[in-house]
Amino acid sequence: MTREAKRAAASQPVAASASLPLAPHPSLAGLSKGTLDKLARLNIASKLDLILHLPLRYDDETHLYPIKDAPAARDVLIEATVVETDIKYRPRRQLVCNLEDGSGNVTLRFFSFYGSQVKHLAPGARVRAFGEIRQGFFGAEMVHPRYRIVQPESPVAEALTPVYPTTAGLGQDTLRKLIGRALASEPLDDTLPDALIHQYHLPKFRDAVYFLHNPSPDVSQHDLQERTHPAWRRMKFDELLAQQLSMRVHQQRRRGTGAPALRVRGTLVRRLLEALPFELTAAQQRVVAQIREDLAKPHPMQRLLQGDVGSGKTIVAAIAALQCVENKFQVALMAPTEILAEQHYRKFSGWLTALGIEVAWLSGSTKKSVKKQILAKIDAGETPIIVGTHALFEDDVVFHKLGLAIIDEQHRFGVRQRLALRLKGTQSCAGGPTADAQPHQLMMSATPIPRTLAMSYYADLDVSVIDELPPGRTPVTTKLVSETRRDEVIARVRDACAAGSQAYWVCPLVEEIESEETPAEQKPKSPRKPGRAGLEMLQLKAAMETYESLSVAFPDLRVGLAHGRLKSDEKSAVMGAFQRGDVQLLVATTVIEVGVDVPNASLMVIENAERMGLSQLHQLRGRVGRGAAQSACILLYHTPLSAQARERLKIIFENTDGFEVARHDLRMRGPGELLGSRQSGMPLLRFADLSADVDLLDAARDAAALLLTENPQAARAHLQRWLGGRGEFLKV
Ligand code: ADP
Ligand code: MG
Repeated sequence: MTREAKRAAASQPVAASASLPLAPHPSLAGLSKGTLDKLARLNIASKLDLILHLPLRYDDETHLYPIKDAPAARDVLIEATVVETDIKYRPRRQLVCNLEDGSGNVTLRFFSFYGSQVKHLAPGARVRAFGEIRQGFFGAEMVHPRYRIVQPESPVAEALTPVYPTTAGLGQDTLRKLIGRALASEPLDDTLPDALIHQYHLPKFRDAVYFLHNPSPDVSQHDLQERTHPAWRRMKFDELLAQQLSMRVHQQRRRGTGAPALRVRGTLVRRLLEALPFELTAAQQRVVAQIREDLAKPHPMQRLLQGDVGSGKTIVAAIAALQCVENKFQVALMAPTEILAEQHYRKFSGWLTALGIEVAWLSGSTKKSVKKQILAKIDAGETPIIVGTHALFEDDVVFHKLGLAIIDEQHRFGVRQRLALRLKGTQSCAGGPTADAQPHQLMMSATPIPRTLAMSYYADLDVSVIDELPPGRTPVTTKLVSETRRDEVIARVRDACAAGSQAYWVCPLVEEIESEETPAEQKPKSPRKPGRAGLEMLQLKAAMETYESLSVAFPDLRVGLAHGRLKSDEKSAVMGAFQRGDVQLLVATTVIEVGVDVPNASLMVIENAERMGLSQLHQLRGRVGRGAAQSACILLYHTPLSAQARERLKIIFENTDGFEVARHDLRMRGPGELLGSRQSGMPLLRFADLSADVDLLDAARDAAALLLTENPQAARAHLQRWLGGRGEFLKV
């Protein structure tokens, strides 16, 4: 293929490889544009979307309480006659209406109201009011109840009243009506075979949705609220099943795609292993074997290699790379930051140049003239291994024969970027068995993905886990220290460096967790919150100030500063100096969060730790404890601590295992944050909760396997119902 032809192929749209031919759900007819727009804000575009728009909670208006006997601390329905209605001005303008029902009196109080309400609530009118009765200064009262005028003996509601999530200008009544109509007009046949429904003790789909929109009053509100009621379980099961099905379909499609079979030859690998100063751990050997087998197959591997920070993923990547090189295919290794990519470059060069294998380096800041030469060599197939940053999948990079793409810290990349790299390889697998051959892909991550997340969002990937650290490591001790004791911390840094070890002082780019936790009413009204770029600047400023003050505090130490705004040669100069031990104390922003590996560093201080996310703290902490020395991580915090901040610090203090930390993170923040789905565009589950519904997830996974082999029509119908309108699961 010519260079131009390869480039043209590389710019093909990426989504084409993706979706099942699912039919879109018919859109809503007969509604005004205004209503449609508001519904769209709720992600509702079809009748089925309306039906799946489930209530947030329910009001119980099925029972009339005498005023005197009404239970406290909950909303109740009462019916009474108006005694007197008045507008009062003290302390502020309000509509006050006194009611009486034979058992007692209650005052309705409205602070915003229409003049016409005075007329409605004329003495003698019969009123049904729904709200909480409180004992106020002037006796029992209801503030801003929902009410209506009724005829005596009007029937009460038979079902609980659903309260839906909604948007400005779209009232509950309108939503209820639209949903009621949608329910009545759709057949809602079951997509699941009876056997499956019985096996998992689920209600029928139609019964479940009818029930959730109109539950009978004798149901436990608790089961509804906690979503443990069988009707809820059915919805969650269906949703998880759709996700599992689409992941499997995707996986099957991959098995139908070609890839170069990179056979195990082993000579280079053996020479590398012989030259290493250490033995692979049993866990490393296990994952190496899994990868070796995958690479030898004529279908693209898509394997996620997980291992806690420091577990030794890089050497595993190098071994995989060699298997590829032995088969005369190229390898691209991509890392999310320049510091990390360069470190990989150095490690790979150190290991591989001795074996006569050239490793090239490509980053955004590679000089133009140099870059041109590198690109020409990559295109000509003269460079077997290329290490770099995002620069690797820019348009001007054309591989000769890409056989393996390795992506470190994969969660830092969006799905699009990963896909772009895969596609880049697609047209350059000239030696592959079929025209549509793809390179193999190895993704690495030190953010452990809890089992449930891996089973759901990564169900289409194969996962390898390095669950053991190299021998001789002593666990990092974590200390929580209040900012007021900064002096003691400084003394400790001095001691550590005097004893010959090195230290990090981290001034993190604070995540925006804290602002999300602040109750809305306490947030400043003006939009003073700086954007991400602004935050970065603030962080930079903080790091520079800390650097200045620590340089003064430690006149005898060599202090360095690393941050994202440094030019790349400055960055690599300071990192190199730290690596060699020339810099003893490194003040840094979170640029060092991922991957940096300096075994002699045994102390880390993290500022503002109370404002950081759990996984981020764990990552940072993983930069120390890489050598034999006892290491410590000091988390500096400011008081007062919010309840969540206190909980996070407690968790990070008590847990050294990354999987445990990730599990807590999932529980506290939900999957979105952990997956980085904001960038990746990964659709999130609406109903199922991955920390609470593990049993359903297991069931859905089994059911998906069964349906696809034994009842593909049902699988299709199910996907059509749940993904017909969306189909996002398939685009990944
Ligand atoms: P991570 O999984 O966090 O990317 P690295 O690959 O950077 O970890 O490895 C951390 C350190 O452990 C490196 O210095 C690496 O050379 C070393 N290492 C890796 N495997 C072993 C092993 N089996 N025995 C001893 N040291 C190892
Ligand atoms: Mg790493």
